[in-house]
Amino acid sequence: MDSATLTGVMIGGAGHSGSTLLGMILSGLPGAVYVGEGAKVRYLGDMAKPLAKRACKICGDDCAFWNGFRWDPSTGLYEQVAAHSGARIVIDSSKKPDWISARAEELRAGGHEARLIVLTRDGRAVVNSRLRKYPDRDAAGQISEWMEQIEAAHALAEVFPGPVLNLAYEELATRPEETARKLAEFVGEAFEPAMLAFSAREHHPLGGNNGTQFLAARGQANGAGLKPGARSADYYRNHPDAIRLDLRWRDEFSPDHAALFEAMAGRLNHSMKWGS
Ligand SMILES: [Zn+2]
Repeated sequence: MDSATLTGVMIGGAGHSGSTLLGMILSGLPGAVYVGEGAKVRYLGDMAKPLAKRACKICGDDCAFWNGFRWDPSTGLYEQVAAHSGARIVIDSSKKPDWISARAEELRAGGHEARLIVLTRDGRAVVNSRLRKYPDRDAAGQISEWMEQIEAAHALAEVFPGPVLNLAYEELATRPEETARKLAEFVGEAFEPAMLAFSAREHHPLGGNNGTQFLAARGQANGAGLKPGARSADYYRNHPDAIRLDLRWRDEFSPDHAALFEAMAGRLNHSMKWGS
């Protein structure tokens, strides 16, 4: 690989599927930087936007990584991030197909490499996670949205101009080292134990999951202000410093929601179903 060549690793799929965890694991590759949901770079420093959208989720407005960074859209975003950080691998968990396609096109035009990881998770866990966070939202609407996002991710994978890896969150969470080795190989790098020790280093993610960010940042100087969502506070405060499969949905998903999910999405979820 040419030393000036950059690799963009983009995470596609539906939100609440473990993309923050995956991004943090990938950031342990040498020369890698995880930007979080790169699409939020457009809101950096925009005081009209809420803090969680306009700034580093861990540091807030005063972030040593993002301070002074403003994307000039006439330059490829990842090229600009690479120049800013010295990284040669940029990881982005934005997930939106249009955003991913545009970044892949920028990479191709600059003679760089584009990689796509389609991350999936048992849809029952995803929908439950969204209803936990937004209890007033309509369950059928959340199920439809998940289905549309999965279908859109598969359609994106069909036309993506580079290698694609399909990965299940449950595989990542139950066999982290084996999966990290597979991920390193997919990116064209050697496995690094640092991939699994993601809470041992600082992160500066835009957007993404508060709970996972809390776990990664609780031992870090910049992470003191971050809190998990109210309904997840006990779960994350009691979480060990290790990668562990989150199966809370099995206790939390109501029988009515489970039946509705099965009727609407049982067929689509068949290959993503974890356990019974
Ligand atoms: Zn930061």
